[in-house]
Amino acid sequence: MNVKENAEQIQERIAEACKRSGRNPDDIKVIAVTKYVSVERAQQAIEAGITHLGENRDQGLLDKYAVLKEQACWHFIGSLQSRKVRAVLPKVDYIHSLDRLSLAKEIHKRADRKVKCFVQVNTSGEESKQGLEVDEVLSFVESLSTYDKLEIVGLMTMAPFIEDEQVLRQTFRALRQAQEAVQAKGYEHAPCSELSMGMSNDFEIAIEEGATYIRIGTALVGKE
Ligand SMILES: *Cc1c(COP(=O)(O)O)cnc(C)c1O
Repeated sequence: MNVKENAEQIQERIAEACKRSGRNPDDIKVIAVTKYVSVERAQQAIEAGITHLGENRDQGLLDKYAVLKEQACWHFIGSLQSRKVRAVLPKVDYIHSLDRLSLAKEIHKRADRKVKCFVQVNTSGEESKQGLEVDEVLSFVESLSTYDKLEIVGLMTMAPFIEDEQVLRQTFRALRQAQEAVQAKGYEHAPCSELSMGMSNDFEIAIEEGATYIRIGTALVGKE
C-alpha cells in the first residue's frame, strides 16, 4: 500500500464529502495516525504532504519525534496519564484527550507556552470510551478558565466501531451541538472552533457533520 496514493484517494473522498455538505476542503485537516506503523511510514505521510501526525502513546510519540522533529505538527490523541505529561508536552502541538481537571492542572503546571487542547467527549455513551458525558462539557470547559496555559481549541470524539450510518451521524452531531453550546458562552479561553472527529471508517460522515480535523490511520498509512 502506497501512502501517497492513499493520501490522494483520501483527499478525493474529502472533496466529495465537502461537495455534498457545502464545505471547503481547505477547512479539513488530515492527521496521519501513525501508532501502528514505523517511523519510515510516518515519513512517507509527510512526503505525501500530510504534515499533521497523531500518536496515542507517549513512547510512540517520543520515538517518532526523535527522528522527524519539526517536520510535523504533533497531535497526542490517546488517553494521557498525568505522569506522562512532562515528557510529552515539549513535543506536542495539540492534545486531543483532555478529559479531567487533574490533567488540565498538570498541563498548566508543566507548560511554558500556551497548549492547544481538545476536550474529549463520549458522545456515543459507550462505556469503553474515554471522555466526558455531553452534559458535563459546559461546566468542565468553564472550570478550565483557571488554567490560562490551556487554550481549548475544540472538542474531540470517537464514534463506535460500527457501520450504522445514523448512529455514527448522531455521535458526530452531538459533538457539534456541544461545540455550539460552548461557543455560545463566548469564553475567552475556549474559542472551541475545531471538531476532531472521523477515522478511517467514518471520516466522510464526520466531515458532513462538521469535522475540521480527521484522524486517519489504517486507510492512510496502514496497520503494520
Ligand atoms: C487509532 C486511532 C485513530 C485512527 O484509527 P483508524 O481507524 O486506523 O483510522 C483515530 N483516533 C484515535 C483516537 C485513535 O486511537
